[in-house]
Amino acid sequence: MLTKDSNSADAAAPVTAAATPVIEIRGLHKAYGDLEVLKGVSMTAPRGHVVSLIGSSGSGKSTLLRCANLLEDSQQGEILFEGEPIAWKGTGLNRRPADRKQLMRIRTNLSMVFQQFNLWSHMTVLENVMEAPVTVLGRDKAETEERARMYLDKVGIGDKCDVYPAQMSGGQQQRAAIARALCMEPKALLFDEPTSALDPELEQEVIRVIKALAEEGRTMLIVTHDMRMAADISDHVVFLHKGLIEEEGAPSELFGNPKSERLQQFLSATVPA
Ligand code: ADP
Ligand code: MG
Repeated sequence: MLTKDSNSADAAAPVTAAATPVIEIRGLHKAYGDLEVLKGVSMTAPRGHVVSLIGSSGSGKSTLLRCANLLEDSQQGEILFEGEPIAWKGTGLNRRPADRKQLMRIRTNLSMVFQQFNLWSHMTVLENVMEAPVTVLGRDKAETEERARMYLDKVGIGDKCDVYPAQMSGGQQQRAAIARALCMEPKALLFDEPTSALDPELEQEVIRVIKALAEEGRTMLIVTHDMRMAADISDHVVFLHKGLIEEEGAPSELFGNPKSERLQQFLSATVPA
């Protein structure tokens, strides 16, 4: 199986740069009521690196991503953004972020791309991409429009600015959602199964865009069921099993020489021969 050229990670993240990761999670615990979903998970997304999260359905991948983005509360453990720890108030099931300004600042620096695109159906593609930078960040409209058109060009749908999402294919809608995430100019991009709602032939056009972003040295955290893409673009792969990291490492190691029996089973069930 293809693995990312080991030199490209170094090129993307010069070792001279401060080694503070964009996202760092330490010993995170998260439960929904009695259901313990994350049982002490630690991971980092270093600047310029692509980290993929893999694992069976229900293993906690989306929950981890949503906790990293502060869309979900967690009960124990630390989350740091560029070395800055999230301030909490309360404990256990009552723990919440203490500082709303900090929460908003960090959240707007982490753009999420969802499986179901989540575009506004009543807005054109251009309006969708411009919406958050203008209304949430208060950015200048004309400048944002210029940037939005640039990002739509970049994902290959510069000609779709004035159409509505329903008039586009799933692959085009997902590329619009990626342009929307980029237009926030975030410090990291978070993807939750970005290709799993797409037909196989449309998957490829989205994978090409994600791969190009990886090659630009963007910091990305990607939940995916696509082992080929994970092997191809990741610097680091994390295998979650029932709320714990069962195994992690470079893609060549994880896919080429899986050590735990659970990972071996998972890969033999998911990777096509
Ligand atoms: P994955 O993304 O790996 O498939 P999830 O993080 O979505 O897994 O879910 C992990 C577990 O948490 C599952 O058992 C799921 O049913 C449960 N879960 C996820 N979201 C919620 C929620 N909002 N309320 C209650 N349980 C949830
Ligand atoms: Mg999920």
